[in-house]
Amino acid sequence: MDSFYISLAFGAAAAGANVVGGLLVTIKRRWDEALLKHFVALGAGFMLGAAFLGMMPESVRLTELAPLLLLAGYLLIHFFEHTLASHFHFGEETHVEAVLAPSVSLFALTGLLIHTFFDGVSIASGFHVGTGLGVLIFVAVALHKIPEGFTIGSIMLASGRNRRAAMASSIALGLSTIFGVLCASFLEGLLGYRLALSAGVMIYVAASDLIPEVNREKGVLMAVMVFVGVLLFYLTERLLARLGF
Ligand SMILES: [Zn+2]
Ligand SMILES: [Zn+2]
Repeated sequence: MDSFYISLAFGAAAAGANVVGGLLVTIKRRWDEALLKHFVALGAGFMLGAAFLGMMPESVRLTELAPLLLLAGYLLIHFFEHTLASHFHFGEETHVEAVLAPSVSLFALTGLLIHTFFDGVSIASGFHVGTGLGVLIFVAVALHKIPEGFTIGSIMLASGRNRRAAMASSIALGLSTIFGVLCASFLEGLLGYRLALSAGVMIYVAASDLIPEVNREKGVLMAVMVFVGVLLFYLTERLLARLGF
């Protein structure tokens, strides 16, 4: 199968996880937060492994502009998620007073739409390097997709919007992911650039969006899950290599 269809299929699966996250928050107002946070911690570790050990070395090999683009990707998400948006964090939105102004939730949505666009770019770019890296990036992205859909859904509900708006916004994140896959597929020549840029985005999401949520939890188990995530990355990478990818 052509790498375009493979990355589109994996991108669609990741997008589906956004919708599942949105569905969780709309069917049940208070979800098992501890369970979601374990996913967040595991995902953060896996993402760090994928970004530092998979995407970064490959993009450095492809373009000498990689270090600059890594930084640019990191700062891009910092700008849209935390400079333009006045209140944004992963997980359940519990600060109703902070998100009541309509613009607050719309800026949070905008930030997440840009972030999810790069989720798609990273999946497609990984598959353009090879199936092994593509699968690794897909798992990294997929592990934080449910919390992502959950996050936007709960922001919408906390800001006074209805379940339909919460659902629609999580679907929008999924569509943005697929749009990222499509854009990356049509720019096949710029592989090193998009891999470096989306690695910077992934590092931001893991280290500056997810890890702070993990660190807010009491006890060491949640913090240990980050290491489990890195280990899981390593084992998956070894397994894929053994299978010939
Ligand atoms: Zn909040
Ligand atoms: Zn994401």
